[in-house]
Amino acid sequence: MRPIRTFSVAPSLPEPIARLPELAYNLLWSWDAGIRSLFIRLDRRLWEISQHNPVRMLALVGRRRLEEAAGDEGFLAQYRQVLEAFDAYVAERETWWSRRYGRRPDDQPMVAYFSAELGLTESMPMYSGGLGNLAGDHLKSASDLGLPLVAVSLMYHQGYFRQALTPDGWQQETYPDYDIYTMPMQLVRRSDGQPLTVEVSLPGRQLVAYVWRVRVGRVELYLLDANVAVNTPEDRILTDRLYGGDLDMRLRQEILLGIGGVRALSAMDLRPRVFHMNEGHSAFLALERIRRLMDEQDLTFDEAREAAAAGHVFTTHTPVPAGHDYFPPEMMERYFGDFYRAMHLSRQAFMALGRQEPGAEHEAFCMTILALKTAAYANGVSRLHGAVARRMWQGLWPEVPQGELPIGSVTNGIHLLSWVSQDLAELYDRYLGPRWRTDPDDPALWEGVAGIPAEELWRTHERRRERLVAYVRRRLRAQALDRGASPAEIAQTEQALDPGVLTIGLARRFATYKRATLLLQDPDRLVRLLTQPGRPVQIIVAGKAHPHDDAGKDLIRQIVHFARRPEVQGRVVFVEDYDIALARYLVQGCDVWLNTPRRPQEASGTSGMKASVNGALNVSVLDGWWQEAWSPEVGWAVGPGGEEPESGYPESVRHDPALVDRLDARALMDVLEHDVVPLFYDRGADGLPRGWIARMRRSIAAIAPHFNTHRMVKEYAERFYVPGARRYVSLAADGMRRAKELARWKQVVAQSWPGVRIDEVESTAADPVPRDRGFTVRAIAFLNGLHPDDVVAELYLGRVDPRGELTNCRVLRMRPAGTAPGGRFVFEVADVRVEGSGLHGFQVRLHPIHPDLATPLETGLVRWAGV
Ligand SMILES: *Cc1c(COP(=O)(O)O)cnc(C)c1O
Repeated sequence: MRPIRTFSVAPSLPEPIARLPELAYNLLWSWDAGIRSLFIRLDRRLWEISQHNPVRMLALVGRRRLEEAAGDEGFLAQYRQVLEAFDAYVAERETWWSRRYGRRPDDQPMVAYFSAELGLTESMPMYSGGLGNLAGDHLKSASDLGLPLVAVSLMYHQGYFRQALTPDGWQQETYPDYDIYTMPMQLVRRSDGQPLTVEVSLPGRQLVAYVWRVRVGRVELYLLDANVAVNTPEDRILTDRLYGGDLDMRLRQEILLGIGGVRALSAMDLRPRVFHMNEGHSAFLALERIRRLMDEQDLTFDEAREAAAAGHVFTTHTPVPAGHDYFPPEMMERYFGDFYRAMHLSRQAFMALGRQEPGAEHEAFCMTILALKTAAYANGVSRLHGAVARRMWQGLWPEVPQGELPIGSVTNGIHLLSWVSQDLAELYDRYLGPRWRTDPDDPALWEGVAGIPAEELWRTHERRRERLVAYVRRRLRAQALDRGASPAEIAQTEQALDPGVLTIGLARRFATYKRATLLLQDPDRLVRLLTQPGRPVQIIVAGKAHPHDDAGKDLIRQIVHFARRPEVQGRVVFVEDYDIALARYLVQGCDVWLNTPRRPQEASGTSGMKASVNGALNVSVLDGWWQEAWSPEVGWAVGPGGEEPESGYPESVRHDPALVDRLDARALMDVLEHDVVPLFYDRGADGLPRGWIARMRRSIAAIAPHFNTHRMVKEYAERFYVPGARRYVSLAADGMRRAKELARWKQVVAQSWPGVRIDEVESTAADPVPRDRGFTVRAIAFLNGLHPDDVVAELYLGRVDPRGELTNCRVLRMRPAGTAPGGRFVFEVADVRVEGSGLHGFQVRLHPIHPDLATPLETGLVRWAGV
């Protein structure tokens, strides 16, 4: 029975500690150990029971304890100190952002960051994996850096599922309802006290949503909630689950997130200029932005699109095709028919926004394509993934060489203060100075790691390993109890693992491409590795499979079955219900972090970064971030790698996934047997593994300064947010004058382009070309009515590979050099020089150019000579 009216009861606190709720309602505690320790001091048991949620904890703590704390001088002293630091943080006006860009006079946010999932803290289970954790860390760094940013997501009442295994090791999903009134969030209300609502249209009805505000340090996050009494029953449960339900539900969720999100910001009078779509789920925001600009500024669709797109940033996160949303055209028609007609678009023009082939009537509508077509800036999440994404979406710009597609890359990072263990943080404070907390992206600072005495670093790490083992035993015991295991089995959990043994962590989503069972390819060899006398090894495994992914669930079962073998009893454990709390213990206590995706399907990966900054060493396939970070001094590579998606194994091998798996599995076992285990157990007279510790130091110093979200958020700000905001402002000035001009220019160019041709190309290059002499290339082109300033002619010059393709090309601009008969134009470049020897070649091309383009080739129009 749902009540007809609800009200919430706020805990009343004794006056001396009356501001505790303020601390509880700001997630700063999730990365500020000082605030956390205050709550833990208040009541450690309730802190655990509440799953580290101080709001819930305050609702549970008894009056007596509160009064006791309010009269306890020691507690009050800590309380005042924590509050002072909290106030200073929240009110701080001297931030990286303000020093570099000044404060915005109107205090408006500049950026709105949209994400369907967010991993901020274990008590808010609104994440399924890396995407959400990255988004959470993005917000925390944005807060630390003082970025004027707000975030938008959905309020999931049940979140992602909780995982438990049957005795046979088969994953079961449960969806407990979270009590949102004891979550660190508050309902946004209008000035008359009524809840603020936003509406979006669904077929035959309006969907009404509430908005919740979450404070993440200095950043505000808004969550849209469809559980409103006026909605239909099936709409009320729309925001129950993250990635739950069918395609229809997914579409409605994405309509609420994208369209409802833009409306919510506007209803709160927030006017960001830049909209960042973290993955394609939120791409409908672009449609709503365009629609509003058309209405408010009396623009055509194309004009509004130019203006809106100027400030749109899109980050794609997955090289796996199943990770992209596609909606059938009929479904899109049902939900968006009125919407696109109101924008005066034809059905075809609308559907084309989500299609690779605009005219393909049956092609489904793809959210990634919509995002790519409506955002001036697009990026993948590691250098390698950028290349993979360019290859994946090449079809959208068929004339543009892959390397020049307008999809760049910003490599992911992690928010250090959320992941570095308390013990290690104190060591860093001591040997690096406290500035690592605020300027973690300064490499010079991390050189100080070399000065941490081996003994101290090692003892600190061993303490974390002991904590990990104790924590895992507790969780194993709890899961055995839940499963109704026998007393003998429950007793066994006390014996699981050994705090002094080389510990490998393997925790990830159980998607098949992540190949969590690569270790099991040769089970007997693995048993030998685990049980070698004097050099034992243990493995802790965790991770969830998507509820519909039976293949992923089967991988979990295989691991559970292997772990049951008597020879490896207690050496391999599967910990259920992987979450941020478990992740923290794992990355802080493991010696080795293992990652074995099928290359190049891991876009970035971030758990390995978390482990690195805690002193663990990575053993990983050269995919995602590890392709960038790896060097022999900092960790180990499994299998071959390279900067290109095609590098690595030869083509014949790459096309046989089973063979790749076998080779990678063997390479993995070789690395573990020959390098990892011997180095770990190579102890000096003092018991210290000096070689291992040296690597820990180098790994921390090399990885921490680069693979953190401070560096990442600064990159987004400098490369996309600030230029995007400036472009938006310049296109919007004077009643959108330049947006209109740009749209008109694009239209003219697109119409003329089919008639543009390059008629003649001549060069003075002798064959062979002498290395010390430059040559001239001249081309004659017909521009079909375009002005020579509307285009740029370029020489595209490179080496010819064995397949006869140009590679490693340089682009040289050709200058206009007069006219030729037939209304044609001459372009020329002189003194062209070639470096190196061997077979070289060139091409000549024309493409449109305009000062207001965000990226030179965004129109996709390129005319190549003789093609
Ligand atoms: C960091 C993290 C992830 C992402 O890890 P990957 O290496 O990207 O697979 C997933 N889940 C949790 C709980 C995490 O903390």
